[in-house]
Amino acid sequence: MIESSAIAQNIEAIQARMAAAAARSGRSLDDVTLVAISKKKPPADILQAYAAGIRHFGENRLEEAQAKIPQVMAQLPDADIQWHMVGHIQSRKAEDVVVQSFDFVHSVDRVKIAQRLSRFAVEQNQTVTVFLEINVSGENAKYGFLANRWQSDAEQRQALYSDIKRLLALPNLQIRGLMTMAPYVAEPDVTRPVFRGLADLRGALCNDFPALALPHLSMGMTNDFEIAIEEGATIVRIGRAIFGERLTYEE
Ligand SMILES: *Cc1c(COP(=O)(O)O)cnc(C)c1O
Repeated sequence: MIESSAIAQNIEAIQARMAAAAARSGRSLDDVTLVAISKKKPPADILQAYAAGIRHFGENRLEEAQAKIPQVMAQLPDADIQWHMVGHIQSRKAEDVVVQSFDFVHSVDRVKIAQRLSRFAVEQNQTVTVFLEINVSGENAKYGFLANRWQSDAEQRQALYSDIKRLLALPNLQIRGLMTMAPYVAEPDVTRPVFRGLADLRGALCNDFPALALPHLSMGMTNDFEIAIEEGATIVRIGRAIFGERLTYEE
């Protein structure tokens, strides 16, 4: 018998909790993808998670991903890993994000970054699959298109809709979902309305923009992934519950 690693045990426990959350809301676990957020963690941890069945990994810093992804792929040349970029992208790094060929970019949080990704994707003859990061909670510190009052505030809704019109016109950019981060607390009373708000916004956007297909809702982290699944998450992004705590200065 091979002893399973702490990481493998953590993954098993999370998958059981994901299954229970899906069952509670009448959903299938097949409709929820677990992305292991490996930021600040070494390639060896990624290899362990891969051995435990994880095929989706997410990083939040480009430089770190650029160093780590080749190291992992050197160990697992035939691995069927999908890489997700989940962190804020500086404008001057947009070209590198395209070159790195992430399978999904969750953090398109402003028109300017979408324009740059599109431009470099055209230059590289690539398509970039993106999610729009939405600030549903309205917290000042959060990135994303502001949508904390889109239902009651016509001006905010118009601003959002005009941004989305501009995004839809950009070549080589496939918008496939919405992403959000709830306030950093574990209370369902606080997080649930944020996740529900993102799901509602998806419904409205799909209704109002026939050209927009948004199969994905990327929401839910260590603190709150079960609530997110109950509210319709198709992708949960989990770091600490898989890999353990990160050093605080590295958040
Ligand atoms: C770090 C991070 C996560 C994972 O957070 P945990 O609390 O470790 O599960 C998810 N999404 C984004 C955008 C992150 O930066």
